[in-house]
Amino acid sequence: MTKLLAFAEIKDGDIRNVSFETIAAARQIDEGAEVVAVVFGNKNVEEAANQMIQYGADRAVTVTHDNLENYTSDGYTQAAMAVIEQENPDGMVMGHTSAGKDLSPRIASKLDSGLVSDITAIDGEDFVRPIYSGKAFEKKSIKDGKKFITIRPNNIAPLDQDESRSGDVASLDVEIKDIRTIIKEVVRKASDGVDLSEANIIVAGGRGVKSEEGFEPLHELADVLGAAVGASRGACDAGYCDYSLQIGQTGKVVTPDLYIACGISGAIQHLAGMSNSKVIVAINKDPEANIFNVADYGIVGDLFDVVPKLTEELKAIQV
Ligand code: FAD
Repeated sequence: MTKLLAFAEIKDGDIRNVSFETIAAARQIDEGAEVVAVVFGNKNVEEAANQMIQYGADRAVTVTHDNLENYTSDGYTQAAMAVIEQENPDGMVMGHTSAGKDLSPRIASKLDSGLVSDITAIDGEDFVRPIYSGKAFEKKSIKDGKKFITIRPNNIAPLDQDESRSGDVASLDVEIKDIRTIIKEVVRKASDGVDLSEANIIVAGGRGVKSEEGFEPLHELADVLGAAVGASRGACDAGYCDYSLQIGQTGKVVTPDLYIACGISGAIQHLAGMSNSKVIVAINKDPEANIFNVADYGIVGDLFDVVPKLTEELKAIQV
């Protein structure tokens, strides 16, 4: 029987959604595979392990160590290699997150195995991934050896949670040592609580928002929708918002169900980060703006008129 590891990622004490998506991806690779969740941390890893089982993993292996409180290349590689040595899996699925992007090639190269990264779909033996900034897709497969893949968050739907589902959670003792990266402090950016890369809805502002205060109507709309707020580089460069909000080629790549672009022209570098969103709504006062070429719905108008009206209408619907 095929055995696949599904890597759980914990951020600020909570398991990230993409962790559950890794289980669904493993099932798509081989429906009959044994899926083993892998959970690392410095405490309370059992809770995350049980959640992984509720989302479809058969069992879980945890590694708890003080050196696994935050992600470090050395610490997580040692923990992952120990689990792989014990389990001898046929492959491992990780999120295409900062941790997954760093960890997957390290392990794959140590095991002389194949890695396909940033997958958005699985088609039989093939892994589908966007190339040329999302303008095309390529299919890749790994013929021999273990398969390592990272999946882009929000593309492979997680299985339904089944709270009655149970499975074995085993802890593995691993000596995690010689950590070369010392994390002295983790400074969290003030955020709206919804993680941009995993958000189902994003309200993004561009230079058309005109100021930091100009983002206020976007935040109000986002609050009503339970959305995250993002931005173009134009808005970040102008100092209207933090660079952690930047979406695009040199920012975050997002694939929400709904992307509302406000005052964004639609430069190719911005499109690289959001054009795979499922539904795109563009609000721009220039009818020739390039963003309308990728938008499913376009509103030609002043965002300071349109956005508050949208917010009011949505509030009225929700009451
Ligand atoms: P603008 O192009 O200035 O567009 C503002 C838009 O707002 C206009 O279309 C205007 O009609 C509209 N507008 C103005 N006022 C209103 C109003 N009141 N109501 C409605 N609409 C209004 N950009 C990114 O976003 N992400 C990246 O990751 C990125 N990486 C880059 C990497 C490189 C190497 C380079 C060279 C560039 C990169 N850029 C990136 C920059 C990119 O080329 C654009 O400059 C940037 O996306 C423009 O941002 P913008 O659309 O907000 O601003």
